[in-house]
Amino acid sequence: MSKLSQAAVDRILAAVDRTFDDQIALLSDLVSTPTQRGAERAGQERIATELEQRGYAVDRFSVPLSEIGRHPAFSPATIDYSDTFNVVGSWHPETIAGRSLALNAHIDVVPTADPALWRHPPYSADQEDGWLYGRGAGDMKAGLVANIFAIDAVRAAGLEFTAPVQIQSVIDEETTGNGTAAAIARGYVADAIVIPEPTDERLVRANTGVIKFAIKVRGVPAHPRNASSGVSALDAMIVLISHLKALESGWNAERSAHPLFAGLDNPVALNLGTIRGGEWPASVPCTCRIEGRIGFYPGDDAAARAREFEAFVAVAKRSDDRLKAAMPQVEWVGVMQPGYVLDGNSAAEETFRAACVAAGNGDPAAYVMPCYLDAALFAVHAGRPAIVYGPLAESIHAIDERVSLDSIRRVTGTLALFAATWCGVRERSG
Ligand SMILES: [Zn+2]
Repeated sequence: MSKLSQAAVDRILAAVDRTFDDQIALLSDLVSTPTQRGAERAGQERIATELEQRGYAVDRFSVPLSEIGRHPAFSPATIDYSDTFNVVGSWHPETIAGRSLALNAHIDVVPTADPALWRHPPYSADQEDGWLYGRGAGDMKAGLVANIFAIDAVRAAGLEFTAPVQIQSVIDEETTGNGTAAAIARGYVADAIVIPEPTDERLVRANTGVIKFAIKVRGVPAHPRNASSGVSALDAMIVLISHLKALESGWNAERSAHPLFAGLDNPVALNLGTIRGGEWPASVPCTCRIEGRIGFYPGDDAAARAREFEAFVAVAKRSDDRLKAAMPQVEWVGVMQPGYVLDGNSAAEETFRAACVAAGNGDPAAYVMPCYLDAALFAVHAGRPAIVYGPLAESIHAIDERVSLDSIRRVTGTLALFAATWCGVRERSG
């Protein structure tokens, strides 16, 4: 599709400005609606209603447990998805002249940690000095709402898309990626995908693959007066964690073979996210379980990395007497997916960069994000260009998460101009 006229650009950006208060009102409502994993229903109902009111054909569907382990886009899951669902709104022109587009965002958010530590309560959606606060404000409800209003702005400018457009609001990105996997398995792909994760208005050039594990150890309980007759599961876990730090160092050392990652401090980041163990202050503990994640490099096979992790734990058990009785066992409890590298010469990226410039936001920098992204599923399992670019946000997954309102406006303009250019538009008649 050819370039937009300057008049069309101006009309689209004016429409973004005109509806921006409504956009932030919807964002505030969504931030005030807690949508942790498995509990996304209320937020998804709201999105489905918003899309239906705009005339999209709306599909609600959950993650089919029968597909996990069969379709490669799915990762191991530990929850039942029966009370939660994805929402995809589709719009199809009568005759197709351009390239299709899917704007994807996840609605699930991570836990708040101690709400008392927040200056602005996590579900308040407070605004102060140009920032909107709340869990999920940046990661990534701002992007989800920007997707909807970007398409609105093109229409409000009197233009009609000449290629199919999808708005995807997916569940369970933060643990498994299975919401987007379910969308792909159901056929919801497009010629390009954009995911406005909070990237501070930069493009993601590459990300890491990630696997999420749990490890259980067992002890032998005893009374403290006979402590030596027992085996402490907590002590064993501390030993095992010290071994895992060596695994992290080893995988980090491989970065020298991956130029995009060589300059990063800790690209694989072994994070131990939870630990639970012990039964009683005055009993030698019988059980301990940790959950965590570790990254690896694009091109690596996720299942092979998982086997490598299991083998490492097995060697630690055999080689360290303190672990023999503890019988460490590895389970896979979340995302198990490779990383990806976005082709810098793709038509999608070229068009996106031009949209950034046309929106007045300059040519964006590109950077490497050492974490899981749903974009990897589209790139690796569907072979589609997946652009990750979104607003300036701070303290995501932390305390007083916030997103910049000015940045949301800029990103919405870029998304709108990209959608119009990529898909193609015509003047709406009548
Ligand atoms: Zn996110």
